[in-house]
Parts: sequence; structure tokens; C-alpha cells
Amino acid sequence: MKATPAADTTTSYAVSPGQVRQAMLVEPGRLEVREVTLPHPGPGELLVHVECAMTCGTDLKAYRRGHPMWRLPAAFGHEFAGVVAEIGSGVENFRPGDAIMAAPTAPCGGCFYCGRGQENLCSQAMEKMVLGAYADYLLVGAHVVARNAFHKPADLPFEEAALLEPLSCVVHAQEIARPEPSDTVLIIGAGPFGLLHMLALRALGVHEVIVAGRGEQRLQWAQQLGADHVVDVGQSGAEEAIARSNGGFGPDLVIECTGQVGGWADAFDRVRRGGRVVFFGGCPLNTTLALDTRRMHYDNLTLLSPFHFRPRDVKRAFDMLCSRKLGAGRIVNGHLPLSQLTEVFAMLERGAVLKCAVIP
Ligand SMILES: [Zn+2]
Ligand SMILES: [Zn+2]
Repeated sequence: MKATPAADTTTSYAVSPGQVRQAMLVEPGRLEVREVTLPHPGPGELLVHVECAMTCGTDLKAYRRGHPMWRLPAAFGHEFAGVVAEIGSGVENFRPGDAIMAAPTAPCGGCFYCGRGQENLCSQAMEKMVLGAYADYLLVGAHVVARNAFHKPADLPFEEAALLEPLSCVVHAQEIARPEPSDTVLIIGAGPFGLLHMLALRALGVHEVIVAGRGEQRLQWAQQLGADHVVDVGQSGAEEAIARSNGGFGPDLVIECTGQVGGWADAFDRVRRGGRVVFFGGCPLNTTLALDTRRMHYDNLTLLSPFHFRPRDVKRAFDMLCSRKLGAGRIVNGHLPLSQLTEVFAMLERGAVLKCAVIP
């Protein structure tokens, strides 16, 4: 195995015969594109030629501080779409040459949680996550092939198909939050997840969507993608502007997408009496949130904290992408080759892109 020098951010990258490229997160802040031997699929597995891998907030977090579930160095990247290169024994629903899209996880179907329809909590989902999408080829595990992989329609671009996983998270959260068309919804956080929530709410015909976030560029993107109002939380008057919404009652539903305790506290404070809060963004480990019990009880708040997704959410996200109603591909505003992965993460760090398509 030979490491690519970090300085190699040019496009052409010669790979030795029989070797393919695989990006590894070696340690926090350090990525390497390595040459590895082309893998072959085992029973039930697929070998997929990656056409597009997509950056994700989870990747950025792992890049910054590692990941509690991944032992480094780890093959990196989990949002993808591609073309089947080889099938393992027993695979019947896919053939070489098929364009596919898949979630990187799938539940076992047999555990306590799966038996109660809470497949999002199945331990297998996280433990057997498909990793390594920033690569020429990716092995997709039999559990995913069996439950969460789909044929990509020809008219759906690969980069939009690669949004299946984040959209599945959004679908699951909204399924639990049940937004109504008459709702005024506040989204806290103008990153890719916040804006994906916004597009899904727009597709549902939700009356008013407000996006609160930081940074002129992000808020400008939120506006361009269809927010009714944007609020810069770094400016004075932000709180008042939100309180004036919905005829002065405040938002019916608040979706927190920053994954910061401050954002969670804001979500709790901004929702109207009788409203719902969705704590969508997971916070750093060992953080706590103190709640005003009077407000919680007498203001009749509903607090929801959806995590991950179930196969039925993936199916719904797939149908939404296929219908093309969402225009989800609009949140992808960067495209770079795999050889420039280091630059991709530098751009994410700078907030210069929402989602960046990484093309092998
Ligand atoms: Zn993701
Ligand atoms: Zn299970």
C-alpha cells in the first residue's frame, strides 16, 4: 500500500494494475488515498463502482475528532451511488451493470428493537455500517443488499441518488414530528440537514418555513432554496423575529439541526405553547440540557428526539428522490475528484460548500 502525498491534489492519479483507490481516515485531520487490491464480493454482497460519494456532517465530525464507533485508520465515506461491478453468490435482485443507490446501514430484523418496529435502534445498523465510499469501488454488505438497496432510475442523477441516507434520516424525523401544511416551522441550523428538512417541508406544502443559522452565505443558500424567512442568530433581534412569527405565537414546530447544546436550548425556548420540538442533531458526548419544568409542563411541549432511520423511511426517501419533487440535488454545491479529498474537507471546514460530490 502506498499513501498519496497530501500535496497531491491534482486530477490525474495513476493506479497500478490490479489496484484501486480507497480513502482512509488515518487519524483526526489526516486523510490518505491508498492503493488497495480490488476486493471481491462474498455471499450476498455487491461490489459497486462508485460514481458519486457525498460528504456528510458525520464525516466532518469524524475528520475533526474521530468517531466513537470507528477504529482508525478506517475506510471513509458512507453516502454513495454507483454501478454494480460484481455480485456475490446468492444475489438475485442485482446484476453487473445495474445502477444502484443504497443506505449504508440495515437492521438485522430479529432483535428486540427490530421486533418492535424500532429498527433504527438495531445495534447491527451502526456496527455493520458500510464504510469506504470515497473510493473507486465499494463492497456493500449482504444485510444492506437485502433490505436497503435500490435500482437507481436512469433519470435520477447519481449525485442526487447519493442523498438517500441523509434524506432517510429527515424522513424518519418528519414522520415522527408530523408537520402539518398549516404549520409554521422553525429550523435551527442552516447546514445540509437543515436545508434538506426545509426542502422536505416545502414538498409537503408546509405554510411557513423559517431557517435560523449563522453566516451570510449559508442563509443566502437557505433563501435561494426556498426558506420564507431567514434569521441570523448572530445578529441582535433574532429572538424577537422568531417570536413574532405565526401571528405572534411563535413556531408550531422547531427542528434543531446544529447538534449543539445551545441549539437544543434555543429550540426549547423558541417553540410556541403546545408546540413540538425535534432534537435532530446529536450533541457531543457527555453534554446535558437542563429544562425549565414549568415551561415543559404548563406550556404542554412535546419533545422528540428521532435517531437514524428504519427501512420504511429509506423506502419513502427513495420514492421521494425518484419523484424528483424535492429537488434535493440542489443542496449539492461542490464537485471534486477523489484525488482532491483533502481539499474537499478543507472546504467543508471553511463552510464553503453544503454537500460536496466526490467523483472517483
Ligand atoms: Zn451521512
Ligand atoms: Zn435488529
